[in-house]
Amino acid sequence: MIEIRPLEEIEEYTNCLDDLQDRFQRLIQTIIAYHPEEDTDEIERAFVFAANAHAEAKRASGLPYIVHPLEVSTILAGMEIDAPSIKAGLLHDTVEDNERIRIEDIRKLFGAEVAGLVEGVTKLKSKKEDDEPPLSAGDETRPEGRKRGKVVDIERQAENLRLMLLAVANDFRVMLIKLADRLHNMRTLEFMPEDKQQRTALETRQIYAPLAHRLGVNQLKWELEDLAFKFLEPDQFKEIADLVESTRAEREEEIKVVIDLIQKSLAREGIHAVIQGRPKHLYSIYNKMLNQGIRFEDIYDLTAVRIIVESELECYSSLGVVHKLFTPLLGLFSDHIANPKPNMYQSLHTKVMGPNKKPLEVQIRTFDMHRMAEYGVAAHWLYKEGSGQTREWFDRKMAFINRQLFQWNEGDQSGSDYLQNIIEVLLADQVFVVTPQRDVIDLPKGSTPVDFAYRIHTNLGDHTVQATVNGRMVPLNTELKNGDVVAIIQRANAQPSLDWLSFVKTPHARTKIRQFHRKLNYPDNVQRGREMLEREMQRLSGDARASIKPEALEEVAKAMNYLSVDDLLAAIGAGQAGAQGVVSRLREPEAPGEDRILTGQASESSLTISAGGLEDLLISRAPCCHPLPGEDVIGYVTQGRGVTMHRRACKNVASLESQSPDRLTGISWPSGNSERFSVPVRVIALDRVGLLQDIGSVFNIADINISEANVRRQMNRQSVLDLLPEVASVAQLEAILAKLNSMADVIDAYRVTDA
Ligand code: MN
Repeated sequence: MIEIRPLEEIEEYTNCLDDLQDRFQRLIQTIIAYHPEEDTDEIERAFVFAANAHAEAKRASGLPYIVHPLEVSTILAGMEIDAPSIKAGLLHDTVEDNERIRIEDIRKLFGAEVAGLVEGVTKLKSKKEDDEPPLSAGDETRPEGRKRGKVVDIERQAENLRLMLLAVANDFRVMLIKLADRLHNMRTLEFMPEDKQQRTALETRQIYAPLAHRLGVNQLKWELEDLAFKFLEPDQFKEIADLVESTRAEREEEIKVVIDLIQKSLAREGIHAVIQGRPKHLYSIYNKMLNQGIRFEDIYDLTAVRIIVESELECYSSLGVVHKLFTPLLGLFSDHIANPKPNMYQSLHTKVMGPNKKPLEVQIRTFDMHRMAEYGVAAHWLYKEGSGQTREWFDRKMAFINRQLFQWNEGDQSGSDYLQNIIEVLLADQVFVVTPQRDVIDLPKGSTPVDFAYRIHTNLGDHTVQATVNGRMVPLNTELKNGDVVAIIQRANAQPSLDWLSFVKTPHARTKIRQFHRKLNYPDNVQRGREMLEREMQRLSGDARASIKPEALEEVAKAMNYLSVDDLLAAIGAGQAGAQGVVSRLREPEAPGEDRILTGQASESSLTISAGGLEDLLISRAPCCHPLPGEDVIGYVTQGRGVTMHRRACKNVASLESQSPDRLTGISWPSGNSERFSVPVRVIALDRVGLLQDIGSVFNIADINISEANVRRQMNRQSVLDLLPEVASVAQLEAILAKLNSMADVIDAYRVTDA
């Protein structure tokens, strides 16, 4: 943490104290204007903290850095936003700029809400800054390079946008702070190096302005667009700015006449209205000239008139008055009050023949509609909370935000092809859905309510019985769409169904469902494994009271790479490990043939197969344990002077060892052998059409032949496949088992062994 001193005591601020206080007072005045009861001491505390945090930093303009957060908050206050956002605006760069400040400090000093906002904004930023710069001007001259660059750029931007959307959906105010931050950075962009100017301006035009538009924050959208225009097409910008300026006086005179006329007529009807002459922003003039191929002189509606009144009724009355004063132009009236635009914009639009025989655009709306038009969802962000309809109002707003953020495909009007491309990349393999608590969850495309449930919590997934999407009950295999609100209905005694494996999309859900079913049988398997082990022990030792020493068993479990004794017992109980093999390991220390076996490697030279095939030396693989290259093996000399090769852990080695230890002999696999060896494999899978082909193709791709296959159908809709693939090594077998185990319908795949 840092020491907080009054501004007067901070050396760096001695020369600019008045300027900073002026700027801060302007911020406070803006807030008081719309929220007189605001606790300005709290806001001042945030300001002083930020000023201390940034004391040593400067903006590129040479001004103290604290000017930036002050201006960002003033932009936010202009949108009549709540106090936590204002404070977060003041604090938004502190954690990033000053390494001695952590988000926990902000939380302690200013509360969780403000800290959450600062964290949201910080996260968005650090992600961006890590990335390479987007398209540079030089790319234009290299068509190929540009193409490649663009694809990468779009993918990178899609990832950024994904983070942004998640942050925004979590708390919309994060986006407003980010937009205000960007706006002030654009206002001061002239101090940055040329390439940075181009990059930032391009990104503003391609991403931030369209997002602002989409969310209806037009006040910011217009300024962002004009500033981007200024840096991206400086010549055209200047030309249009000069043209607008040179005709301004004349135009203002005309408008003044019109406004007076309307004002008087409205007053006669008892309507008190605020009437504004609204200058069009420069980028829209430029676009109009470009798109419609017209000259500046031919754009008549450079100025429009806006009438703001108290009530909806007065809007229609005012329309009547305007149409009586001026001749309406046919077909150019639209009622966006009765039919609000998708971004909730409401107004009456009409075009009339103005006094100088020039068309004049007139917009009529209430004050509330005006706020909505300028600030979109940001309007009245929190101060309406006190009123009666709070909840419903808030719900409507959030539903709107979710729709705007996540349903891009249907009739998008963002006005940016580039953003549209990013969205397409983003939505090509992802889907954003919303919890009833309004948390946004991103899932792979094709995900279902079951994937959703497991993403939220394993426990929820395991107990899912039903799901609703947007309030309607749906089947659990329903494919989720962007913006869907998904709720899971759970029951304490419910269990995941194995059927789910056939439709879940996420590996996470698949693993969890399998895990559940393995766990389900786990206690039984442990019990059975213990019994099998004890029986085997008694049989081999001939002692009906022989028991297993727990320490010895633990050693063996560890040696066989099991996490616990229970895991080993469960494996025995499930038939994945042989009881006899374990007993042989348990008995190993006192076994008579111990030395021969243990020193097998040392004496192997005499018998090592070094040339020719295995057959040359009459060595055959034992049918009990099917040893494979890469495994630890041992030989048993048979009566006919041939040698049988066993896995070192094979149960039979243990009994041979006690009967005729002198016949055991160390051998090893020849190297460079290209032979294939068959090994029994069992696959337990969900019964469905085409399952066999799918499993077969896993072997086909690995170029592994299956010499035998046997399928049994079980009562519980499972199939047991006993296969005899021919593999080159234990490593290849393990790889194929791993692949089988990752298949959606496969519950388990393992090597069958008696050992
Ligand atoms: Mn900033």
